[in-house]
Amino acid sequence: MSGTFIGMPKFQTAAKEALGNSQQRRNLQHATGTIRRKRAGVVDELNNWDELRQAGAAIKDNVLSHLDTYLVQLEESLTQAGATVHWAADAEEANRIVTSLVRATGAEEVVKVKSMATQEIGLNEALEVAGINAWETDLAELIVQLGHDKPSHILVPAIHRNRAEIREIFLREMGQVGTPPPTGLTSNPRELAEAARVHLREKFLRAKVAISGANFAIAETGTLVVVESEGNGRMCLTLPETLISVVGIEKVLPTLEDLEVFMQLLPRSSTGERMNPYTSTWTGITPGDGPQDVHVVLLDNGRTDALADQVGRQALRCIRCSACLNVCPVYQRVGGHAYGSVYPGPIGAILNPQLRGTTSDVDQSLPYASSLCGACGDVCPVNIEIPELLVHLRTRVVDEHRGGIPSGEQIAMKGAAWMFSDHRRWEKAQKGAELSGRALGKKDTIGRLPGPLSAWSDARDAPTPPAESFRSWWKREKGDPR
Ligand code: SF4
Repeated sequence: MSGTFIGMPKFQTAAKEALGNSQQRRNLQHATGTIRRKRAGVVDELNNWDELRQAGAAIKDNVLSHLDTYLVQLEESLTQAGATVHWAADAEEANRIVTSLVRATGAEEVVKVKSMATQEIGLNEALEVAGINAWETDLAELIVQLGHDKPSHILVPAIHRNRAEIREIFLREMGQVGTPPPTGLTSNPRELAEAARVHLREKFLRAKVAISGANFAIAETGTLVVVESEGNGRMCLTLPETLISVVGIEKVLPTLEDLEVFMQLLPRSSTGERMNPYTSTWTGITPGDGPQDVHVVLLDNGRTDALADQVGRQALRCIRCSACLNVCPVYQRVGGHAYGSVYPGPIGAILNPQLRGTTSDVDQSLPYASSLCGACGDVCPVNIEIPELLVHLRTRVVDEHRGGIPSGEQIAMKGAAWMFSDHRRWEKAQKGAELSGRALGKKDTIGRLPGPLSAWSDARDAPTPPAESFRSWWKREKGDPR
């Protein structure tokens, strides 16, 4: 089972270790470069890309501003359509709900559609503790699971693996948990995909319960939407008797019409395609067709904390396309594991500290996992100002470290504001500056200041104040202006 990331070292330590893995660096450069070029090609085809991005951001911002209303509407629509809605405040509650739902069916295994939300809460591990096997059915997730590994990319979780490594994993592990690979398996991609297809088919046909996430949840109709490339999701969403979907509360969209915008933004930004191969939508229960027992777990797990932050909340616009990872020079070199989360790269650096708080070493270090080059913000399909958020979160980390005690800079700025707010104080300050200017004589710069002020002056060459200010000169030459 793929492990969770609890107890990870801080980013800088993990990144240093990852940089030593030259094979991983080569795999990442090749894979991200290919997706980047494809994305650029299909985005350039559109002459309204910026308008689409603005529309996507506006729809998401509207949802975030009225999240309470849309969530209640979504619950009503889902219930009307025959689904059962559950609310989970955190990962523990969500895992407890899902585990008890699976237990109630008597099933000892589930098939899973690729889902970031279930990885975020460590659902596979929770099910394992309860004696329930969770089989990942997305090809890359299968590789990660069979390799007892962790995902390193949002869209391509096994991006750090090459074909030869995947072949080895299949040969070593597949037979232990189901249909083994054929003898003579090579590292030809077609053969590897066929081995996975045969291995998974047995599980699809046997499973009584499926677990999914959702890319979008439509408040107006109660429709859930899963966007995928392989068709494995469609199998999970239609064959089993019970379907449980764990959905982050920020995934809600007001109407089906809003999908039009995101179905243009998402495939282009994620896989570099004009449209994705499989888009599955389902609305509660359809008698005699597909799962007849449908549950939706609406997950908070830190999202309302992020929502409360006026600047940070824009991270909740994210549609998990991974475009920001593919252009990030830091991610391309260190890979995803160093971020200590299922959300790596620039989005991970702004989302994890908001969802999990900044108490752990790794979450405190993530806002610094960037050169602030701005490439991530440039490609984000929902216009998240990622560099701005990184700086915002750095400020939060520094403030928390100071334990509420204001910094020297903050004290100085407050003093300056007090002085500038009254012209008499400002004149007195200028008089003081003239005196110090005369005292410093012919010196060009003020040099090193004493005590804690040296931290400021050590890195700057501040010019000495003039012996006579402009105001004094004017008064001497032209008389008092008042
Ligand atoms: S932050 Fe933007 S670019 Fe990055 S994954 Fe989310 S939507 Fe995509």
